[in-house]
Amino acid sequence: MTSLVAVEVTANLPYRHTDDLFIDGQWRAATGTGRTLVTNPATEEVWGSVPQASGADLDQAVAAARRAFTGTGRSVRGAGNGWRDLAPAVRAGYLLRLAEEIEKRAEAISHTNTWENGSPVAESSRAASNAASIFRYFASLAGLLETVDIRPFADGSGETVVRQDPIGVCALIAPWNFPINLVVAKLAPALMAGCTVVIKPASPTPLSVRLIIDAVVATGLPAGVVNLVTGPGSFGDALVKHPGIDKVAFTGSTPVGRSIAGACGQLLRPVTLELGGKSSALVLPDVDLDALSQVLIRTCMRNTGQTCYISTRILAPAERYDELVDMVTATIAAAKQGDPMQPDTVFGPAATRAQEQTVRAYLRSGVAEGARATTGGDVPSGFDQGFFVKPTVFADVTPGMRIAREEIFGPVLSILRYDSVDEAVALANNTTFGLGGTIFSEDPDRAFALAGQLDTGSLGLNFFASNHAAPFAGRHDSGLGAEFGPEGLKAYLSPQSVHRRIR
Ligand code: NAP
Ligand code: MG
Repeated sequence: MTSLVAVEVTANLPYRHTDDLFIDGQWRAATGTGRTLVTNPATEEVWGSVPQASGADLDQAVAAARRAFTGTGRSVRGAGNGWRDLAPAVRAGYLLRLAEEIEKRAEAISHTNTWENGSPVAESSRAASNAASIFRYFASLAGLLETVDIRPFADGSGETVVRQDPIGVCALIAPWNFPINLVVAKLAPALMAGCTVVIKPASPTPLSVRLIIDAVVATGLPAGVVNLVTGPGSFGDALVKHPGIDKVAFTGSTPVGRSIAGACGQLLRPVTLELGGKSSALVLPDVDLDALSQVLIRTCMRNTGQTCYISTRILAPAERYDELVDMVTATIAAAKQGDPMQPDTVFGPAATRAQEQTVRAYLRSGVAEGARATTGGDVPSGFDQGFFVKPTVFADVTPGMRIAREEIFGPVLSILRYDSVDEAVALANNTTFGLGGTIFSEDPDRAFALAGQLDTGSLGLNFFASNHAAPFAGRHDSGLGAEFGPEGLKAYLSPQSVHRRIR
């Protein structure tokens, strides 16, 4: 058995046990009574904790965000002194400085993130630079907000000036798998648009996001523009339904997303939902297996399989099925699992005990339904502590199996067989989700044409990566609306059409 205790000496963890929330520009003691404990999933050590905010704390955070949004002025543009009233270029300046402050905290962000959710440092060490690049991208869109958009009436009788107002006070609710970037993907466009925010992180990962707040303080953002509150899922529900909230942005599971959509539907409150997925890697017969092997883990099992868009179902042509299963098995089996603080670790533990148990149940269901584990399976992890699950490859998977249909959110790949490309397309589209996906082929034109047949929001040809300038938008059970790109900024804006006669 392998022990993982030696990591503590070097970890840079500025926050451990905390009593406060960030409201109206200052850390202040929570008035709620409960606490949320933070567990290192690699060691099972409870090393941190945060307070659970009360309803009164929530009221104060929302009220502070409202004051910061409107300032004391009455006008949306020009006359007021709220965040919404600043020139877009001025807000962009804040975003650029915030990016620098976040980069200064890269190591603390990485280590805190890894201690919270077990993401290998090879992954979490990129969180700060990625967050900074997201702020820089949205800062670069300031010009879009300054463009005067005038649309003439068809009969020449007048024109309409279309202005874009910030929506208002936004609730940002994030999951635990990428605790920095899934907050920043909302925070950056919200701030650029002129909105103010109340952030609720996921309960397993409430500490790393405090480093973002430290960067906000160091940047000198006006009080109340960004607020951070912590609490359980029921607190997230109260935030979504709070009368002072104008828009909700959520990333997380499909069931919680549905419940938030229901509440927002009732309230007629704009909402953006980035939810789960079950994406496919469609491997064409002309695939270069060596090249696929190089990107396999990042594309299909990134972050120990805890990434929403990864291609966890591999669709393999019958004539190359055995060869592909052998390559995938060998690649996954050779990748190092272990202490996520070690730079060469590829797979860490599951983020929580509950997630470990969920994944193990899927491993048992795969076997019970007739799939064949070629590596891994529901076997002892080999570690004497931690929520480790062996990275697993299932061959002989058929479309009806639960492991072929449901999001597992763990290090599990399912390899299905197809005879014709039409059958492969049908298999890829045979899902209630529509988030990511990949096509592997040596023929770029054929792959590009095939992309048009796949019913999914994003698709990679021979690799997958997100581009801050392009919309990331799940279809069907994968969500509503888009993050990133100008589309992601638009989600925080509300148009106002002013019709006038031409003088
Ligand atoms: P989750 O259970 O849906 O939780 C997400 C967030 O919502 C957490 O902050 C959670 O708080 C909060 N929450 C729970 N119940 C709530 C409610 N009734 N109302 C409002 N907020 C509530 O998801 P998770 O377990 O953290 O994350 C895993 C899931 O996220 C996976 O399904 C994955 O596919 C999805 N995901 C999607 C994307 C994407 O962009 N499409 C990206 C990453 C992850 P607590 O933690 O306090 O319960
Ligand atoms: Mg959850």
